[in-house]
This record gives sequence, C-alpha cells and structure tokens, in this order.
Amino acid sequence: MNKFTKEVMFVGEMASGAKLTVPVYAFTADNNVAAPTVYIQANMHGAEVQGNAVIFQLLELLQQCNLQANITLVPYANPVGCNHKNGEYTLGRFDPITGENWNRMYHFDQAIIAPFVEQNLDASAEEIQTKFQQLLLAQIDKKLAHNIWGITTGQRIAYQLQRLAHQADIVLDLHTGPISSKHLYCPEYAQASAQYFDIEHTILIDNDFGGAMDEATFCPWWSLQQAYQASGRNFTMGEGAFKKESFTVELGSQEQIDLDVAKQDALSILSYLQAKGVIDNKQYQPQKMTRYACYLKDYKALYSPMGGMIDYLADFGKPLAAGEPLARILRMDNYGDGEALHYISLDQQVIPILHFASASVNQGTELYKVFCNYFEI
Ligand SMILES: [Zn+2]
Repeated sequence: MNKFTKEVMFVGEMASGAKLTVPVYAFTADNNVAAPTVYIQANMHGAEVQGNAVIFQLLELLQQCNLQANITLVPYANPVGCNHKNGEYTLGRFDPITGENWNRMYHFDQAIIAPFVEQNLDASAEEIQTKFQQLLLAQIDKKLAHNIWGITTGQRIAYQLQRLAHQADIVLDLHTGPISSKHLYCPEYAQASAQYFDIEHTILIDNDFGGAMDEATFCPWWSLQQAYQASGRNFTMGEGAFKKESFTVELGSQEQIDLDVAKQDALSILSYLQAKGVIDNKQYQPQKMTRYACYLKDYKALYSPMGGMIDYLADFGKPLAAGEPLARILRMDNYGDGEALHYISLDQQVIPILHFASASVNQGTELYKVFCNYFEI
C-alpha cells in the first residue's frame, strides 16, 4: 500500500493573526522513472466542492496503484473563498474585497521567454526543461519573498499553489459549473488526451494567458516551444522536455458533493494517468462514449433578452436543433394578456452545457453556455 504524507501549507493570515491553511497530500513513487509528475487541486472557487470528494476517492484508490511518478493533491485550495457564505449559499468565485475572480490571479510574464531562448539556444532538451522550470519557480519565489509593496490576498494563495503546480508535468484544476454537465478545458495541442477522461464535452483552448491555473502552467511551455520553433529548433508539445499538460476539469454543479459520482470522476482521472504512464494499472481504461469538442470561440454564452423567471428546458449534453426552445421566460407583469410566456431558441444546432443557478434573472443575465460548431473527437 502506497503511503501518502500530509502537510499543512500556510497561504495567508486573518486580521486576528490566525493562519489560513490548505492541506497538501503527496504520494512519492518508489521508482521515479521518466513518467510525468502530477499536481491536482480542488475548490479554488468556494462553491465548487465536488473536487474535494474526488480527491478523497483518488487518495483511496491511489494507495493501491503502482505509482510511476510523484503525485501531489490539494483539496480545499482556497480557504477564503470556501468560507465566503451569504445566507445558505456559498459565494467564493470572486475576492469579496477586490471583486477579482480567484482563478485569474496566477502569474506568467511573457517577457521571460525571448531572453531564455536566446541564452539557451543550443541547450539540450533536458537542460531546457530543468532550467526553464527553475526560472518559473524563481519568478514565483520572487513574488512570494515579498517586497516593499506586498501582494494581494488572492495572489498569495494563487502563487503558493502555482509553486506546487510548476513542479509537476501534469496539472488538473478541479472546478464545477453553476448547474452544469461535466466538461473539460483542454489546450489545443493536448486534444488527444481528452479521450482518456470519461467526459463527453471538451473545450479546446489556445495559448492566451488570462490568469487561470491551467493557462498559468501550460502557456509558459507552449510559448517557449513556439519561440524555439521560430529560432529553428523543433520540440513537440506534450512530449519529452515539453510534456506539460494542464486541464480545468468541470465536474458538474456547484454546492453539492456526491461520493459515488466522485468515485466515477476519480476513475476517469486514473484512466488518464494510466494512459500517461503515471500509474501502471491497466484496469483503468476510459469508457466508450461519443466525445464532442468545440473551440473556445464557439463556446458561447446566451444572455437573457429580458428579465423574468426562467423555466430551463434544454437537456445538457444533447444536441438541440435550431429553433427548438432552450428555455421559457415567465413575465409576472403580463399574466392574463397572452404575453406572460416567451420562448428562447437559437438559429443553429447547439449542445447546452450549463445554465445559470437561479430561475430569477435580469435582462442580460448569462442564461446558458452552449457548444456551437462542435465536432466529434
Ligand atoms: Zn470554477
């Protein structure tokens, strides 16, 4: 049975001086071969709790696995967001003081790429891998080591987590939607890996850094690979020194955990880890299913054309024909005169993925997110 260790990482302090902490679990492989190392975190957004249950199930299952590389797991990654309650609801998507999204505070400075390539143009792949990882970690350490001006509460949490993520080759950031089906954010270059997850819907994202954890871990390497390519050296993303892969795994709806579903989610992650050689346990294989993908530009939000009460009609994950209703809106000011119900449809076939968590919406509220121009992968 593999042993895991538990540490407590300090990520900040409250006004009282009380420490904000997150638990860090780590499995160490006996035979550290060339297999990719792994970092998995959950609950960066306060209400998105299912990933905590998935990490619990992973810890149980990984004890019996034949580990080929080290795996670090961090549930409850954001103690401020997780405790941000209002009435019976958890908020925790935005820092309550600054309004900033907790998952947009990670760090990557594009300006490090060009000088690094210049100084290491003829370095071996192994040297590039080691030195560039050191550079990324040094950048984070410099941010964390403090300076006269300090950093924000959210940056301090994010950078501590990113420090762990930068030490791994594979990064999984576990989230959920509001009311949602499962879906995966996957870098375009890693599309082939989407088939190992038991997730029917994948959003393919390009190399734009917007501050999220997945981007913060793959964008530096993708940018580096492209800069080397422009200098005449070709490396393949996802392989060898550039074996970095990073995903945001959306596990369903917020504010709920289901331990049985979490077991299925954990098995899905294990089948991906088996495919990447992180574990050697062939019983973990992806399920057979039709997997659809669309590019990020085709993952579209539908905003409510009017205020009212929404009856969400469309099933998640199933293609919805053009003209078929997604939802109907009830208008309380128009009862009895025939204008009380308004149907909403689109002019093209889509796959609904998630919808807003409340029936009560203003004009302009994001009602649904849907796949347009989707294709099988
Ligand atoms: Zn989230």
